[in-house]
Amino acid sequence: MRTLKDINIDGKRVFIRCDFNVPKDEFGNITDDRRIRAALPTIRYCIDRDCKIILASHYERPEPGKYEEKYSLKAVAKRLHTLLKIKNELYMAEDVVGPDAQEKAAKMQGGDILLLENLRFEAGETDNDEAFAKKLAAFADIYVNDAFGACHRKHASIYAIAQQFDKDHKAAGFLMSKEVNFFGKVLEDPVRPFIAVVGGSKVSGKLQALTNLLNKVDKVIVGGGMAFTFLKAQGYEIGNSLVEDDLMDEARDIMEKAHDLGVKFYLPVDFVVAPEFSENTAVKYMPSQEIPLNWMGLDTGPASSRLFREVLNDAQTIIWNGPMGVYEMDKFSKGSIMMSHHIAETHATTIVGGGDTADVAARAGDVDEMTFVSTGGGASLKLIEGVKLPGLEALEN
Ligand code: AMP
Repeated sequence: MRTLKDINIDGKRVFIRCDFNVPKDEFGNITDDRRIRAALPTIRYCIDRDCKIILASHYERPEPGKYEEKYSLKAVAKRLHTLLKIKNELYMAEDVVGPDAQEKAAKMQGGDILLLENLRFEAGETDNDEAFAKKLAAFADIYVNDAFGACHRKHASIYAIAQQFDKDHKAAGFLMSKEVNFFGKVLEDPVRPFIAVVGGSKVSGKLQALTNLLNKVDKVIVGGGMAFTFLKAQGYEIGNSLVEDDLMDEARDIMEKAHDLGVKFYLPVDFVVAPEFSENTAVKYMPSQEIPLNWMGLDTGPASSRLFREVLNDAQTIIWNGPMGVYEMDKFSKGSIMMSHHIAETHATTIVGGGDTADVAARAGDVDEMTFVSTGGGASLKLIEGVKLPGLEALEN
């Protein structure tokens, strides 16, 4: 993959597609700025080369084509300014490709930065509209895609815009190349034993990833809500736990395929169960075979945590995607927190993918112990599925 080091950008106008879709609290304060920090190496590299830097990102899901204050990138501009500590100008445009953005772009000097407003304030963004992409492209001589977290979407600032630049005028940013190289290397040539830990709510969201991983890993641990579909497929009573009855056959196929390939397949052996989905409910710790009727499993239990620690003990490479339980509620967060600790304690190369999973690792205080925490949930899952990301494809064409 060509990065911006492979092309000449000195003194040029550079458009960098970033992923500044960071979480904010109800007062509009940024609560986790990892995605902004992750974009800094690319931005600093361009500042050092005296480029005029146009930054663009989406933010959440406003109604396309409509400005709404709560989806503005103004807070991001402020945080960027604090993090970059630059003397140059950092302009915040009031619009995306409108008169204010044009006016500010025109007065930029080398090293200045212009952050455009939320790309999704323009309907053309999600429609991958060529006319809108051309307006974006007109800001710059060079296109850089550093928005790994948005790369699985065929949107104008990811896909159509890249068609406007030839191969000497477009490249991946440093974050993008780091993400793709990490996943690429681990999936192509992992140091073994290679273990996948997969959790989260549903089998449907991770079916393809699980199927693809089976061809590569030595062991799989399945936790979270998706475990119940596998347990039910084995004939166990799972009470009111989350289940996808229509995926029972697929669950059986996966377990059969794991068996045929010699991949060790692990499910939780106990659960924290509750009569209702609530923080204030009573809970019991029950073996997987004894989930009471009308109760639901909301976290993996202590025996599972010990089992999983044993399973992970000899790992040399671990990919983790998806929490082990409803970690958002303290009562049901232990299984996920313990999983994070166990993974962090191994001597393996550890890759954490997915927003929820990164959140668990952060709550557990383990982020610094992980080899790599991906900034892109959906995009990293697509890489694990073996799907070519539209954003990468557009850079190569
Ligand atoms: P996903 O988006 O598929 O990765 O799923 C993440 C979500 O799964 C989190 O919000 C968890 O609360 C939820 N989850 C994990 N375990 C369970 C469970 N046993 N029952 C219901 N939801 C769960």
